[in-house]
Amino acid sequence: MSSYDVVILGAGGAGMMCAIQAAGRGRRVALLDHVGKVGGKILISGGGRCNFTNRDVSWKNYVSSNEHFCKSALSRFTPEDFIKMVQDHGILFHERKHGQLFCDSSAQQIIDMLFEKCGQAGARFFLGHNITAVKKSDADAGYVVATDKGDFLAQSVVVATGGLSIPKIGATGFGYELAKQFGLRLVERAPALDGFTFGESDRCKLEGFAGIALDSIVTCNGISFQENLLFTHVGLSGPVALQGSLHWYPGDEVAINFIPALSREELLKWFADRKGQKGELKNMMVELLPKRLAERFCELYLPAGVNLANLPKKDLELFCGALQSWTFVPAGTVGYGKAEVTRGGVNTDELSSKTLEAKKAPGLYFIGEVVDVTGWLGGFNFQWAWASGWAAGQAV
Ligand SMILES: Cc1cc2nc3c(=O)[nH]c(=O)nc-3n(C[C@H](O)[C@H](O)[C@H](O)COP(=O)(O)OP(=O)(O)OC[C@H]3O[C@@H](n4cnc5c(N)ncnc54)[C@H](O)[C@@H]3O)c2cc1C
Repeated sequence: MSSYDVVILGAGGAGMMCAIQAAGRGRRVALLDHVGKVGGKILISGGGRCNFTNRDVSWKNYVSSNEHFCKSALSRFTPEDFIKMVQDHGILFHERKHGQLFCDSSAQQIIDMLFEKCGQAGARFFLGHNITAVKKSDADAGYVVATDKGDFLAQSVVVATGGLSIPKIGATGFGYELAKQFGLRLVERAPALDGFTFGESDRCKLEGFAGIALDSIVTCNGISFQENLLFTHVGLSGPVALQGSLHWYPGDEVAINFIPALSREELLKWFADRKGQKGELKNMMVELLPKRLAERFCELYLPAGVNLANLPKKDLELFCGALQSWTFVPAGTVGYGKAEVTRGGVNTDELSSKTLEAKKAPGLYFIGEVVDVTGWLGGFNFQWAWASGWAAGQAV
């Protein structure tokens, strides 16, 4: 049996960051993964350019049943710390809106940097290893990690197996099962940052718009985002729908403002200013909305046969309400096949916020997405992976 100080399960962003720190402190570290390559999610992230962090990260950018839990790790390993690593490694990057930082070239550069740093620090990779069991060792000197290619004895085990999204590149629920095995509670998991699917009646109302994109505000549970909204064959996608889906729970209503550039008063005035104009309202509205959407809203929310000149004020107000506070109850979100993250996970009450060690199982740590800390779209999930990996790496 190979013996290590630290065995890390999962060679994604969190696992590799933890390995760099722990091995850098002189710990003997083994990184195990069941797939043959490291950092699969990093590679597909940010459209292949990896939105590796955000200039402006705060606990407010995360969803967790204990919103304060992430503060400790995030304050000790900050976006500036990761940016420095990236700069020192010569990786060129650029900033997009809302402080999002992306590689100029390829996400592969982030993987190469982490992989190289793991090697320099002395961490060893064991890829293509299927983990069959994790148990306390009989001698009580730590844990035994059993794999199909041999067993590992470890003083500390760090679970960095991520969430359930994108199973085809290696995501499994292994970390959650392990948490349960050691008596740790879980917060209910759901696919998130994946957008919405329409129920039957909304699909009928808004069918035929797949591919239409427009700037919108999506509000869900009192939290609003303004960004691009994209109609799909099944519902709504685009950054703003992804953000909304993180805050959505089954049965919740979602409100959409399709004309965020104007206040309600400005929109009413926009219509009032055109009362004397000839032509159909739906044609005038192409200044405000994509043509097909304007047509459909006129059909759905205006009395048949009226034109702007004889439209009663009450009906105009209702129409503006439909355009700027259109509400619907999604049938669901798109699912783990497309979701960027899994919301929920290992209950933070079970872990130390400083070290990420399980309170009920000394020597067992949970980091990254497997923990009930889920970031907004925009580089926040990687920052949590780096910060939680860093924090555990100081403690193991
Ligand atoms: C399409 C997409 C785009 C994204 N884009 C961004 C972005 O631009 N910015 C951002 O901040 N976040 C982004 N995310 C989210 C981000 O990728 C994750 O939050 C982050 O990778 C989580 O890191 P992790 O190390 O905790 O888990 P992961 O990166 O998922 O790593 C987990 C590792 O554990 C391994 N593993 C799983 N089960 C087992 C098992 N049973 N045995 C052994 N090994 C196992 C996996 O193979 C994997 O290597 C994106 C996600 C997706 C799916």
